[in-house]
Amino acid sequence: MLAHPNLATTTHKTWALILAAGHGHRLAAALNGTSKQFLLWQNLPLFWHPALAISRSSVVDGVIFVFPPEELQLAQAMIRDARCRKDLGLPWFVTAGGELRQDSVRLGLEALPANARHVLVHDAARPFLQPNLVRRISAALNEGADGVIPVVPVTDTIKTIADGRVTGTLPRANLMSVQTPQGFALEVLREAHAYALKTRLTVTDDAALLEALGYEVRAIPGEDHNVKITRPEDLDRLHDTSPQEVRTGMGYDVHRFGQGHPLKLGGVPIPGTQEVVAHSDGDVLLHALIDAILGCACLDDIGTHFPDNDPRFEGISSAVLLHQALDMAHEAGFTPLHADMTVVAQSPRLTPYRNEIKKNVARLLSLPPDAVNLKATTEEHLGFTGRVEGIKAYAIVTATRAPYRETRPAE
Ligand code: MG
Repeated sequence: MLAHPNLATTTHKTWALILAAGHGHRLAAALNGTSKQFLLWQNLPLFWHPALAISRSSVVDGVIFVFPPEELQLAQAMIRDARCRKDLGLPWFVTAGGELRQDSVRLGLEALPANARHVLVHDAARPFLQPNLVRRISAALNEGADGVIPVVPVTDTIKTIADGRVTGTLPRANLMSVQTPQGFALEVLREAHAYALKTRLTVTDDAALLEALGYEVRAIPGEDHNVKITRPEDLDRLHDTSPQEVRTGMGYDVHRFGQGHPLKLGGVPIPGTQEVVAHSDGDVLLHALIDAILGCACLDDIGTHFPDNDPRFEGISSAVLLHQALDMAHEAGFTPLHADMTVVAQSPRLTPYRNEIKKNVARLLSLPPDAVNLKATTEEHLGFTGRVEGIKAYAIVTATRAPYRETRPAE
């Protein structure tokens, strides 16, 4: 069992168990053998999503993840990566589960800290959990309930069947579909699991153990979207509900006028005007654009990748640098959607070149012409642009990130 380093210094009352120890045979083939809890959705493992909702509920003090014993190493590697992307901000443990779901719950309960009083048991394969449901379950436990389960009405008619023949129709009004998290007074759930172990009682949810012992289980409204990813067709929900990650990057650059390179903006030569001092070809607009692209992908800045003291970049076309920056952004999963740019110069006047620059930038970014905008302004004779000592440019690029990868990360 691995402890979060801060665990010893905090106090805990309500803990969550996230059950990620199943093997999901119904889905394994569709996922090339990957267990569904390790599937990446929105660049995070499936099991991490409910943990984030639990963390955002502000009513849970820590999380225990229960994984198959043989997958603990993979799980730890995935958690390290997930924490870098979106940390829980809560103490957490990782522990090994057992053969049946109820074995995994029992082993998870053994891993809880001594001062835990309430526990929420949640299936990792319900990634759409929202903090509000967690809060409502916690509130019912604080009111004194021994067990709390979220339920949603059954919408299909349910029949009993034997040997391919209908033997009865159940009255639907009293039927409810049960979700997780299920909340429990910890002592009661521990007692129930000890009873199940002793009597070899097998159940499909923890509430059934309380029912067997005569404890009252309270039902509260569940949430329609809190579904379980179980069958191959459920994977479509992950595609359908993935909001694409959208990022915005900004770039800014300045070049001094002086003897050097003929002025180019957005790759378009602007003849008969000032030259710019620069190590590369001095295209201030493309430099701002490169920084905006790198900004979308959090890849630092142009100076880091193309230092102005590196002889390889002397006099180099900025379009080449732009392509390299685009390659790096693509490698990180980002595709530009839109660019908005502003050139600030007292001179030259850019209106005659505006369309050509826009068209060329759109071509360089592989964007349609209506996804690129260029503004030109002066600074009213103020400052260094006003004194015609130099030129500056701003660029803002919006990019989307590929939301879904089906491959396992490197261990
Ligand atoms: Mg520059």
